[in-house]
Amino acid sequence: MPDYAELASVALSAVALASRACREVQASLERVKAITKDDKSPVTVADFASQAIVGRILAERLGRGVVLVGEEDSKWLREDDHAAHRAATLAAVRAVWPDADEKAMLDAIDVGAGDTHHGSFWTLDPVDGTKGFLRNQQYAIALAYVERGTPVVGVLGCPNLPRDFRKPLDEPDPHGCIYTAIKGAGVSETPADDPGAAPVTIRRLDREEGEPLSICESVESAHSKQDDTARILAHLAERGQPSREPARLDSQAKYAVTARGQADAYLRLPTKKDYVERIWDHAAGALVAAEAGCFVTDIRGKALDFSHGRGLEQNTGVVCAPPRVHGLVLGAIEALGIGRDA
Ligand code: AMP
Ligand code: MG
Repeated sequence: MPDYAELASVALSAVALASRACREVQASLERVKAITKDDKSPVTVADFASQAIVGRILAERLGRGVVLVGEEDSKWLREDDHAAHRAATLAAVRAVWPDADEKAMLDAIDVGAGDTHHGSFWTLDPVDGTKGFLRNQQYAIALAYVERGTPVVGVLGCPNLPRDFRKPLDEPDPHGCIYTAIKGAGVSETPADDPGAAPVTIRRLDREEGEPLSICESVESAHSKQDDTARILAHLAERGQPSREPARLDSQAKYAVTARGQADAYLRLPTKKDYVERIWDHAAGALVAAEAGCFVTDIRGKALDFSHGRGLEQNTGVVCAPPRVHGLVLGAIEALGIGRDA
């Protein structure tokens, strides 16, 4: 059996370095745009840099045979037309890997070309919440180790997420947070800019009876049907369970915010019939929330099933919440017939 604590420690190092590189890109947006002559390039550059760094650390610490299913591959970046993006990515990578060259960087990105046919594999979203990254709001680096369809180690780097609940969620924090979860062994939080600091155990606080519900969901209405969230909240309000305005933030930071008790639920309600959720958009975050005491299922109450390749083929949407709220939300979904046609 693998040493999960060791795998978690390797993953934490990788995600902390990738978070640092993403921050460097964020701090030099104008320079990156000037090199590439492309306004969206900072997120492209951060995406590739993050995957290169994680690929390198996993291969170095766990051996070249490590299986990593990454969201990106290097094909586009290798093309002659994209030399400027390649140079900008190398500059970002060198912030944490000073002697990297182009070949080593491109090969490290392709460590992530693994497939899901193996009994166990790593999966990575190098920059989850690309729109949040471009707005300098919430985004995440999400790395998980999946064993026979179940995430068993999950590390979620949220470089812009403040630890302090009083700080606004839509403004970047100078420190950020990383969450490290091991199945059955809990989840802890460390500052993203100081991953060697003593980790703090996170245990989701159950909400006080009578407090209004606070829900979080995507900023992008194309990723979660916000009208259906409003219907669920109206349904619960009619039954004596009032709520606040939903908090909207990008990326799997929503799982972290729910895990630590700042939100009472994360809802992801299908917007179209045929969309299949990607494994790297959920594996790390779902484990972080589950280890803090949340139930994480799809909108029908089915556990998320990571054993069907790169998509959650057997699931529809996501409901993540501590047990009582999870039950309330699933009841509302059922009563309102949400997702019946999805
Ligand atoms: P979020 O930041 O939570 O809004 O989610 C970002 C993720 O949404 C991206 O990584 C995409 O993989 C994913 N995505 C893209 N299209 C859809 C869709 N129609 N429904 C749900 N998620 C989507
Ligand atoms: Mg994503």
